[in-house]
This record gives sequence, C-alpha cells and structure tokens, in this order.
Amino acid sequence: MTSTSSDNFKETLKQQADIVRIVGDYVKLKKAGAQNFSGLCPFHAEKTPSFSVHATRQFFHCFGCGQSGDVFTFVQKVENITFPEAVRLIAQKLGVPMPKMSFSSPAEAHDAQVRMALLDVHVRAAAFFQECLRRPEGANAREYLKGRGLDEEMIGRFRIGYAPDSGFLLRDALRREFAEELLRESGLFSWKEAASSEPRAPSNQGQGADQSLSGAHAEGSGPKSAQRTTHSSQPAPEEGGSQLVARSSQPSAIYSKFRNRVMFPICNDQGKVIAFTGRTLSTDEKAGPKYLNSPETAIYSKSRVLFNLDNAKEAIRKLEYSILVEGQMDCISVYAAGFHNVIASSGTAFTELQAKLLGRFSKNIVVNFDPDTAGARATERTLGLLVEEEFNIRVLTLETGFDPDLFIRRKGKDAYRAALRNSQKYFDYLIDRARALFPVRNSESKVKAVNHLLPHIQRVPSRIVRDELALEISQKLGIDSAVLRQELKHAATTRSATEVKATAEEQITGAERVLIRALASATEMQAGGTRSSAREGADEEFDPARQAQFALQSEHLYEGLASQSLLESLLAAGTETADVMALPKSEDDRRLLAAILMHEEEELTPETVEGAVRALRRIYLRRRLEEVQLATQRSGLPLEERQALLQEKVRLKRALMDPGLGEAGTGTHG
Ligand SMILES: [Zn+2]
Repeated sequence: MTSTSSDNFKETLKQQADIVRIVGDYVKLKKAGAQNFSGLCPFHAEKTPSFSVHATRQFFHCFGCGQSGDVFTFVQKVENITFPEAVRLIAQKLGVPMPKMSFSSPAEAHDAQVRMALLDVHVRAAAFFQECLRRPEGANAREYLKGRGLDEEMIGRFRIGYAPDSGFLLRDALRREFAEELLRESGLFSWKEAASSEPRAPSNQGQGADQSLSGAHAEGSGPKSAQRTTHSSQPAPEEGGSQLVARSSQPSAIYSKFRNRVMFPICNDQGKVIAFTGRTLSTDEKAGPKYLNSPETAIYSKSRVLFNLDNAKEAIRKLEYSILVEGQMDCISVYAAGFHNVIASSGTAFTELQAKLLGRFSKNIVVNFDPDTAGARATERTLGLLVEEEFNIRVLTLETGFDPDLFIRRKGKDAYRAALRNSQKYFDYLIDRARALFPVRNSESKVKAVNHLLPHIQRVPSRIVRDELALEISQKLGIDSAVLRQELKHAATTRSATEVKATAEEQITGAERVLIRALASATEMQAGGTRSSAREGADEEFDPARQAQFALQSEHLYEGLASQSLLESLLAAGTETADVMALPKSEDDRRLLAAILMHEEEELTPETVEGAVRALRRIYLRRRLEEVQLATQRSGLPLEERQALLQEKVRLKRALMDPGLGEAGTGTHG
C-alpha cells in the first residue's frame, strides 16, 4: 500500500468526520457563534469555557492553553494515542472500514505482531492464574484475599489470580500455544543462561509463519523439580494465529518469575492485561520482594499506566474527580467500598505521561496518601508534577497508621466518604505544614516559612494563580512587612517565561486580524457551494482575499509585524489551498491563526479590509518615521543625505495625516 492511498483515506475520513460530533463525545459543547461551539477544555483545568470548535473550518482551539488542531489531533491528544491509532478510532466511530494495515518495514510488521501475541499471552496467563486460585493449591491465596475483605465479585472484577509454587506449570500451559521465544519476551519468565548455549539468534524479521513449536522439552533444570500437572490441559491451539517462530533449538530453561504469589493483573486503559503485580504469600525471605512487578516489555511501560484506570475512567469523568492512592491493594479496597473513581500510582512517583493520561478524564484529584511519610520524596514529586500539570489537588490525610484499606475496613465507607469531603486544598495543606514547621512568631521564622513554600508555588504554571497564592500566604502567615511581601510576590511571579506566548498574541493588531481573515477566506470561497450560499447578499464582486493580497504584497506592509511569518505563509499559498490550517509553518503561527479564525464574528466587507490596510500603512509609516528620525540624529551626516531624510520626514508626516494616500509616502523607500 502506498502512502498516497493512505493519505487519501485520511482526507476522505477527515471530510466525513464532523469535528463537532467527535469532540462532543468528550466535551459538552454549546453553540457559541455562527459557526463555532465552546466548552470546557479537556486539556487544562478550567471553570469557564475557553475551548472552541470551528464547525465550518473543522478545527479546535483553546484560548486558555493554546492547544489547537484538526479532528485527528484532537483524538490523538484526548486519547493519548498515535496518529495511526487516531485514524483507526475515527474510522471506527464513523463505521468506515479501514484499508488493510500497512507497515513501513518488515521490522515494524514484526513488532506489531509481537505486541499482539504478547497481549494474547497475557490473556492466557491471567486465565491460568485465575484458574489456579480456584484450585486446592490456591487455598492460602483465597485466605489472604478474604482477610483483605475481598469477595468473589471483586476478585472476579480485578481478575485476581494465584501463581502456583511450581515454576513450570505456567510455562507448560503457555508453551502449547506460544513459541518460547515469545514467552521470553513476555516478562513472565526467568531463565538461567546455560553456559553451553550459543548466543540466541537475532529474532527473525517477522515474515515467517512457521507453525512449528519447539519440540524440545526441558525438564528439571529450574529451581524446583518439574511436576506434571494434573489439571485439565487447555485445548491444543489450532487457530492461535500468534505463533512466532520458535527457532531456538537450545533446551529451554525458562520458569515462571512469579511463584506462590497472589497475582493482580495490570491493565491498560482499554482494559487489556499487559503486566502483573505479584504479592508473595511466602514468609521466607529468599522468596524475593513482597511485591514483584512485571518488567518493561513491548506492551508494558510502567510510566504510562495507571492501575485501575480502565475500571475507573467512566466514574472519574462522571464525578469529575479522581482519588489517587498508593498501592494496588488500597485501590481495590477503595473501589470495593463503592468509590469507583480510584486509581493507584503503584508506589512509584507519577510521571508526566501518567498525569496527562489521567488529565484526559478530570483535572480534579484527591490525593490520599500522607505526604509526610517516609517515602515522601516520591510523593512530593508526584504532587509537584500534578501541580505543574495544573491539576486541582486536594490532600486527604488519614490518621497516623491508617492506609485507605485499613481505614475502610476499620471505620467503614461512610467515614471514608466524610474524610474525602473534608480533604484539604493542597496549598492550604502546605501552608499549615509550613506553620507547624516554623511557628510564625517572629519575622525570622516567617522568612523560613516563606522560603519553605516558594519552590511549591513556583511550580504553578499560571502567573495569576501564583499571585493569588502569594497573597494568601502573606495573609495566612501574617506577614506585615512590605519588603517580605514584595519579595514573596516577586519570587512567585518570576517563574519562567510562560506568558510570552500570550503577549505575542496580544501584539497582533485588529488590522492584522482582519487581513489574516481576509487571506484565509480564499480557501473558504473555494471550498464549494455550501459556503457561498451562506454568504448570500455579499457583494459578488468583492473578494477580500484578493484585495488583501494585493495591498500587502505591493506595499510589503507585513514587514516587521508580529504576524509577519503567518502573513507570509498565507500570501505564499495564494488561493490554491484546500486547508488553510495546514499552511502556517510554525506551531505558534498555527495557534495564532486558529485563535483569529475562531473569532470570525464580524463580516468582512470592502470597507473593513480597506480600513485594515490603511491601519497597517499607518503602522508602517510610523515605524519608518522613527527610523528616519533616528537617522537624522546621527552625527557627521553628509548634508545631502540629511536633507533627503528631512524631506522624507515631511512626506511621512503628511502621509500619516491621510493614510489613504500612504503609497506616496512609501514610494521613496525601496
Ligand atoms: Zn485548554
């Protein structure tokens, strides 16, 4: 399949997909103008809508965080998926069949095949562990789960299982269906590199459909003796489909990594099992860590996964907040108690990817772990990251010695609900803590408390919020010293150059906006009959694009403007473009264009375009006048030159009185 045909498919799909409807699946949209809709931005936390969708031009733009793009970009960002996946998802939503999958290389095809096969391995492994939990050897595991207050329903919902003590049962069960090479990639097995074995051949490039499974049967070289199983064997897989080649002729020595452990599947947000956490039931120290996780594999990257997000995402969206707890067991208990919007970070600090993933569902979060505990550094990183990602954070601190699991079992769900309600805003919590650490009796300890809080405040991306926090802190700490107040405010406001973009947008004059709209209308007129009917009554002769193009090009009026590069790309494209949003060369320009087109309320008339051209002339004349004035002040200027400059100055001043005749003023300047 050539790239052209897949490009065609994307184009056709884009035309069929109504962005308003697709976005509407994620964002509550309200009609906000003749051709745009608005709602609360899914990409940043906000209370008043600054997210807009342009119905005719089929793009979105957020005036709050600056995100913009077409329907593919939207789905890609909101679902946190790749472009090809976004194409597939939209095709699914529209019921359009996808063209056959195409891969750019055999290696890529091979990788995709491996990932599919690994998902199958995990489906089978999860079923195997569940089955083992029901069998006699699962008695201890069942006892453990009962002790944690989990009933059949919850065990089933979380697909909890048991990994038997023997390292070979899982292997033998899976080897009937999957090549050993694949099992080695699954993260479920360990092996000892035999001294005699040759280095493994590099994996074949994926086109082999060799169905033969390795016939070699290794017995006994593992940590435990291989027991033949008594349990009923799974049917031999005829169809399987996922057999990759087992080429290794070396006797295998793989054995299960997880032994005598309660197995908690880790799922991606689509609910597919991609890894496991195993909780040991052994009291023997040699049994390894209390909790053992799958290593990173082709399908599992721990920085991208949040435990229980697949079960929790609907509730998070509906309740508009999530509860973050530390461990899987806590998560399951809270869920079982009826709080379905709970997810777990699995003990490690949050990553940016996880924060973004979670942010797709809600930016309100209650963090239910004690930031003062021993593992406080990971916790602090997590909270810092959530602040940077503009989450609204509340902190739920349970009494000392209680984790959520224990708390719910001892005090019940109503007590937990009350605790959730009484959770504290993160910054209030921080201020309280600073006050406890540095009792604010004298100005010296106030300075210490302020210094303690500053790094936290400086993480906040929004300057306005930082300003408010500075004020709040000075009030709560009772800072009356004007100097200290000033210092606090200064430190809080000089964080980074996050506001630069906003000011660049503010620098664009109304005149530039009008001309940019005029140039963009070229494509709008071309886009076909539907649109020209909407513009009935407009003067047939009037072509705003042509008028703007002529004025800008003949007089070079765009030079030196804040929007110069955007105007240049629009001018260069002429009237031949199908998608005006695809024209800008830089991300900033694209945002600027989106922001301007989203506000197309006032109709373009010959007068507005002409007025805008005049305004740009005025700007141009003023700038030239400044240059001339500076030039005349140079010392040692030859008399003739000085006179020429003075003459131009007069001309410029006259032209400025009547910019309609501005061409005269610019004529001398090449
Ligand atoms: Zn936004």
